Amino acid sequence: MQSTSLYQSIFEGVYGLLTGFAMTLRHLFRKPITEPYPEFKRRLPERSRATIILTRDPDGDERCVACYLCSGVCPVNCISMQSAERSDGRRYAAWFRINFARCIYCGFCEEACPTLAIQLTPHFETCQRDILKLLSEKEDLLVNHGGKNSDYNFYRHAGVAMVGEKGSHIGEEAPVDIRTLMP
Ligand code: SF4
Ligand code: SF4
Repeated sequence: MQSTSLYQSIFEGVYGLLTGFAMTLRHLFRKPITEPYPEFKRRLPERSRATIILTRDPDGDERCVACYLCSGVCPVNCISMQSAERSDGRRYAAWFRINFARCIYCGFCEEACPTLAIQLTPHFETCQRDILKLLSEKEDLLVNHGGKNSDYNFYRHAGVAMVGEKGSHIGEEAPVDIRTLMP
């Protein structure tokens, strides 16, 4: 009885070894599927979250209205800016800074932005030896295109400052007359 289980154990051991060797041999003659970086660069999906940019609206103006929503929602407080106003009442960021040494690429800033100004892109090759080089100013972030949803123009919907009556902008509902709500 004991010798039977000994034979069975030996058989199982040898079988396991041979199966392992067979697998190794099979892979020896297979075409490798490794994609060596940086020679091979896989194209990442459009929604990948890496380098952040500040985009422009279809008229070529800066989309950012310096509302501070992105900096408020950022969990690591790596966005800072100073708001300013043009002579026509349009707001913009006098300066805008992102500390990429702290950014965790969560995408919250993009989610919070009402004007689609701040966007994360699939570009991930931003490694630097000097950590201070990971500090990006507005000049580094601002691009000359609209990125995702390039047709969107926040001010065509919201209006600039006091231009136009309430309810006169695209997609804006007319104000409610509260007297009509009285019982
Ligand atoms: S991706 Fe996240 S961590 Fe990075 S700047 Fe935006 S909100 Fe902050
Ligand atoms: S990037 Fe967007 S959320 Fe941030 S300040 Fe500008 S408009 Fe506001």
